[in-house]
Amino acid sequence: MPALTTTLLRSALIAALSALPAAGLALAPQAAQAAAPQVKTQSGFYRMMLGDFEITALSDGTVTLPLDKLLTDTTPERIRSLQARAELGSQVETSINAFLINTGKQLLLVDAGAGRLFGENGGGRLLASLQAAGYRAEDVDAVLLTHVHGDHSGGLTVDGKAVFPNATVYTDQHEAQFWLDPANAAKSAERHRHAFLEASAALAPYAAAGRLKTFAGDAELFPGVRSVAVPGHTPGHTFYVVESRDQQLQFWGDTVHAQHVQLPDPAVTVLFDIDSPAAAKQRKRVFADAAAKHYWVAAAHIAFPGIGHLRKEATGFGWVPANYSIPR
Ligand SMILES: [Zn+2]
Repeated sequence: MPALTTTLLRSALIAALSALPAAGLALAPQAAQAAAPQVKTQSGFYRMMLGDFEITALSDGTVTLPLDKLLTDTTPERIRSLQARAELGSQVETSINAFLINTGKQLLLVDAGAGRLFGENGGGRLLASLQAAGYRAEDVDAVLLTHVHGDHSGGLTVDGKAVFPNATVYTDQHEAQFWLDPANAAKSAERHRHAFLEASAALAPYAAAGRLKTFAGDAELFPGVRSVAVPGHTPGHTFYVVESRDQQLQFWGDTVHAQHVQLPDPAVTVLFDIDSPAAAKQRKRVFADAAAKHYWVAAAHIAFPGIGHLRKEATGFGWVPANYSIPR
């Protein structure tokens, strides 16, 4: 350290010390700062630019999932050992993420969180995150559903009222047909039945107002925003692909429920799948595609903000979370 700096530091230190009352250092109680209450909140949003589009991840909160009871085509031992590599157990606090796309002309919300469906157990923070991110529910022009499961559509409607009063809800026609037909509920396994009631309740006010729009598989929905059919997890499970200035981001919905298990082993399925062999096949295909082509991926249940890239590894795939960045 140069002599001048050392001298300056020393004289600053002496001045600071001599300003303290003599007994102050040793005896003053340190209570004032320690009494500040712990805040225990998170900011709830994360933002990045994709070309000219602003992308904002919105946290709907988390829900704790018992992976050893929910994951299928694997074993509890295998789940435990893969989770341990991430310093986690089989019970894992799992993110519920939604995403905003501001194209400069329109404000699009991808999925709407769980609303009140999980009660105290999780979810329901989407509106607080939206507000923290600088937007109001009234500002949303369209909600693009990756699928109609409750943790993606429950936040659309509360007490029978549309939460997004100016938004049109978009979903694949197979998805709407499947979940809105009571005959399918009767034919489905017991564990899926509640989802039919939740789907009807979530979509009802939008359908009644003529603001439920369905599309057929792969469709251009807005300039730079298109849907891609990825049936399996549900019959109309959809990716939304967003492109601006040669950059691409894909919103993946429920391709991953347990990142530390399904990335290394894409064959692992989940009880929520309507067609689990088809879901596993899609997962293997899109993992390979994303790792080969290096586009951005935004996923509903990868740890918030759930935005990153996939990389091929010796066994399966790995997740490369987005580098922290300040949009400019
Ligand atoms: Zn989900």
